[in-house]
Amino acid sequence: MKVGTVALVGRPNTGKSTLVNNLVGQKVSITSPKPQTTRFPIYAVYQDEQGQIIFVDTPGIFAKTPDIQSKHLNLQAQKVLKNEVDVVLYVIDPSRKRGIEENRVFGMLRKIDLPKILVVNKIDISEPNYREQYKFLEDEFDSVIEISALKPKNLPLLVTKIFEYLKEGEKFVERESMPIPALNISSKTYIEESIREKAYLVLREELPYKVKVEIDNIEERDNGVMYVQARIMTTDKRYKKMIIGAGAQRIKQIGMMARKELEVSTGKKIYLELRVEVGEN
Ligand code: GDP
Ligand code: MG
Repeated sequence: MKVGTVALVGRPNTGKSTLVNNLVGQKVSITSPKPQTTRFPIYAVYQDEQGQIIFVDTPGIFAKTPDIQSKHLNLQAQKVLKNEVDVVLYVIDPSRKRGIEENRVFGMLRKIDLPKILVVNKIDISEPNYREQYKFLEDEFDSVIEISALKPKNLPLLVTKIFEYLKEGEKFVERESMPIPALNISSKTYIEESIREKAYLVLREELPYKVKVEIDNIEERDNGVMYVQARIMTTDKRYKKMIIGAGAQRIKQIGMMARKELEVSTGKKIYLELRVEVGEN
């Protein structure tokens, strides 16, 4: 059988999580085959008669984050991409205008000597369509595949394409031993990055760059609900107000988006308690 590790990269909201989720559907378990490694906090294992693919989702890698912590993350991500990944999927959403992130990602991908597949997602959306703006990317990739992660369309095609780039090998994990659902929710990093990613998404340019997310508590109660308490930390009162927004509009939106994503990743109901605090970063 063929086996390998595939990294999903792309800016927030292009559909990476949806893709992993729908791609795998019943065939997937989200788990951590290598619990000792925390570098990639989430793994999804796909398996069919062709082989086994470990998908690694990388939230926050391309967030606009000039602070030191995330620079470190970026470097780390690059290192992992170079050393632990066999194929890179770069997911784009042509229903949105190209962002400045694309150039950054582009520069980064260029340095990575791995098979790269450009995944053009959301083909079910016909308008608006900015596909032209992304054309320049295509030369850099070994393959270009158009899909809809949501509908879903062309997913088997994508899987077959991925297998073309993978080598024969031993199975990474026994599916029977995978906990289901089993995102390693204890992975605080993943949750923190999810929340931070959503904060950047909601606040866009306005976001003061000194923002940090800390998880205070993760607890699964008897009713099966996962309780997550988290704090968004910022350096200034003004920023705090900004993040909360009028009528707590923004913090609610950040929380809602993060909660949805975590629910998809864990298959559990999540109760997310989000606070904003001024403090040392
Ligand atoms: P991520 O941030 O890259 O992980 O993106 P998500 O998977 O969270 O998806 C972001 C949003 O795009 C969600 O509202 C999805 O439902 C939506 N989405 C993802 N894939 C598709 C698609 O193929 N078509 C459409 N119409 N929406 C999609
Ligand atoms: Mg995601």
